[in-house]
Amino acid sequence: MNDNQQNTIDADVEQEDIAALRKRIDDFDDRILDLINRRLSAAQGIGQIKKQTGTTVVDNRREGEIYLRLLSLNQDPLKAGPLYRIFRSIIAAGRSVQNQPGEADPPPLYAVFGDPIGHSLSPVMHNSALAQAGLDGHYLACRVQDIAAAISGIRGLGIRGASITIPHKIGVMKHLDLIDSLAADIGAVNTVVNNRGVLQGYNSDCAGAIKALKAKTDLNGKDVALIGAGGGARAVGFGIKQQGSRLTILNRTREKGEKLATDLNCEFKPISEIKRLPYHIVVNATSAGMKPHNDSTPVDTDLLESGIVVMDMVYNPLKTRLLAAAEKIGCTTVDGVSMFVNQGAVQFELWTGRKASVDVMRRVVLDELTND
Ligand code: NAP
Repeated sequence: MNDNQQNTIDADVEQEDIAALRKRIDDFDDRILDLINRRLSAAQGIGQIKKQTGTTVVDNRREGEIYLRLLSLNQDPLKAGPLYRIFRSIIAAGRSVQNQPGEADPPPLYAVFGDPIGHSLSPVMHNSALAQAGLDGHYLACRVQDIAAAISGIRGLGIRGASITIPHKIGVMKHLDLIDSLAADIGAVNTVVNNRGVLQGYNSDCAGAIKALKAKTDLNGKDVALIGAGGGARAVGFGIKQQGSRLTILNRTREKGEKLATDLNCEFKPISEIKRLPYHIVVNATSAGMKPHNDSTPVDTDLLESGIVVMDMVYNPLKTRLLAAAEKIGCTTVDGVSMFVNQGAVQFELWTGRKASVDVMRRVVLDELTND
């Protein structure tokens, strides 16, 4: 048998396998559709009772309980984020069969603006948090190069809130109507709230990072090395100074590091001149180590001293090479997901006025990062 004949046979076998698997999928779809319709009939029954008793259709507490119960039952390979998406649609269908007049407003929109943006876990985190809180709304990722046009889009479309990420955290500020005083002091905005057409900028990175650090260590009176001088470093450095730490900025490019050190009134050292890291806390606020550059570290890991606290703002991968090295020599570590989820919870509360379910947010983000 020649190679061509073998290839034809392999393709036939593959086609047969695909046909058999598609048949199984069709059978599952039939059963899922039947179950959804039976679920909707039950919801319709509840709707009639609610109508008779004058009860409102939406019951946020009940919806939250449904998600938590399903999350506790869930098994691989369905991840937490898609679980929320699927059941959110089913629950929305349940609401629509119970529909009462006056409840058909379009759901609020939220978005993250950045470039690149494909890697962002903000949509899965915020959409799950909205569902868990029983709130309508859609959170979308938008690749944005022209931030001025995107901000006009917030006004034109009535977008309720937006996250702002690389490279727009500073550039966005001049397009907003109001800047919160903390964001103004930091000099960077990562959150926009649309308050009836008035756009106000906030910074949640600072609070998110400090909460993540303080869960593991006191900051007052500590010597802290902050590696990096970008938008993230600016927010975190401001918060660290506010907590009464002695801050040193380490950066690859001298001018940028010196500028941030001047703004934060602290010391600066170029990374290339670092021979020791005599600090209680070391924070990586650079993108070194971020996927796909998993092997890179912002400083030589041999410089880490055992027993200190090491935080990495990079959250993908969850355990960066820097954190793995720190853990190996007995340092306390703080991963980037802790900061990410904490800053997301601050955004959620600014947009919705409701407490965010931080446990759910962390769970869906970790699920996305596992086996990534
Ligand atoms: P940015 O404004 O672009 O700043 C990047 C910084 O990283 C600069 O200081 C740059 O140094 C430095 N850098 C990049 N590659 C490096 C390398 N190979 N070695 C040493 N330094 C390097 O970015 P950003 O907004 O501050 O974000 C920085 C990181 O924090 C990103 O990975 C981002 O995903 C992460 N972040 C995480 C959270 C969270 O919630 N966990 C929030 C915000 C940001 P130069 O000045 O020399 O160019």
